[in-house]
Amino acid sequence: RMRRKILSGPDLQLNRLREASDSMMTEYNPNYEFGGGTYSLRDLKDIPREHLRLVKALGQGAFGEVYQGFFKHRAGDAVEMPVAVKTLPELSTSQAETDFLMEALIMSKFNHPNIVHFIGVCFDKHPRFIVIELLAGGDLKTFLRESRPKPDRASPLMMKDLLSCIIDVAKGCKYMEENRFIHRDIAARNCLLTTKGPGRVVKIADFGMARDIYRADYYRKGGKAMLPIKWMPPEAFLDGIFTSKTDVWSFGVLMWEVMSLGYMPYTGCANREVMQLVTSGGRLEPPANCPTQLYAIMTQCWNPSPDKRPSFPLILERLGYCMQDPDVIKSALPVYTKPPSTERDT
Ligand code: ADP
Repeated sequence: RMRRKILSGPDLQLNRLREASDSMMTEYNPNYEFGGGTYSLRDLKDIPREHLRLVKALGQGAFGEVYQGFFKHRAGDAVEMPVAVKTLPELSTSQAETDFLMEALIMSKFNHPNIVHFIGVCFDKHPRFIVIELLAGGDLKTFLRESRPKPDRASPLMMKDLLSCIIDVAKGCKYMEENRFIHRDIAARNCLLTTKGPGRVVKIADFGMARDIYRADYYRKGGKAMLPIKWMPPEAFLDGIFTSKTDVWSFGVLMWEVMSLGYMPYTGCANREVMQLVTSGGRLEPPANCPTQLYAIMTQCWNPSPDKRPSFPLILERLGYCMQDPDVIKSALPVYTKPPSTERDT
């Protein structure tokens, strides 16, 4: 789109600098395919910066700080909507710019109650913003760990709360499967809650792994150390094959995380040992007090042959039966026994 003339010497350098600081986003404008359409930067909804008010920092993301804030639709509006604002620091590499744009594109095309809702972007100048719905309950893994029974208090959760979290994630996964989107990193740490209290809804909120495969140098950067091995099926870590059935396996591991109230899967095992264990047929044990009906669904998700793993509609049907089953619903919460000191939090 930019007209170029032949430049040399200082002109060329100046031009390069200008490009590097400003037009990176328009210079390199990758496409994103979803649901049969192709999308790029200009398909993203722009929000005027003045309609945003950042209130406090929520945490550090892969790019920059994530803030809690408020957004108003029109300049004069009295009502403001709570939002989360992901920021890209001014001094970012062009790779980070592209990754940030790709994350916005990915999130913008989803439209489902169990996937974080995209609101818009401010990409006109620095710092760049991605505005999404605020999920004030934090991530699912932390929530589960905080909900463990303590000596002085029983867990505030019941079996139906855990099942409801699992069903929420399965619904988001079913939607992604329908749209042929492979997430590649379904795990409790990547799901966020609307609220910690009753009525909470769990949403899939992190698309870092799917985003990164759009990168030209993906396989060079970080390499295998970056892969979520404990959530991956053998064909993924052995042969690099990713399908919706990859997500089904990972979903089984997420079910295990929920039913163990946020335990690290294969506690104390290094990735290398887990790959060895899983390829030779070893599987996660049922979490303490886990209803057999739920563990049965997990083991179906971990079928060595991808074709034999259930689809998400079938998983949802089976989870629905569990929700109706008094034996499941009335079972006591998982018992939390102190993990070995080797538990690592990655
Ligand atoms: P990363 O880039 O490491 O995957 P994120 O950028 O997704 O992390 O998030 C960084 C922090 O911001 C995390 O603590 C996460 O819980 C929080 N966060 C991200 N998105 C939202 C949101 N929509 N609502 C509330 N908090 C969020």
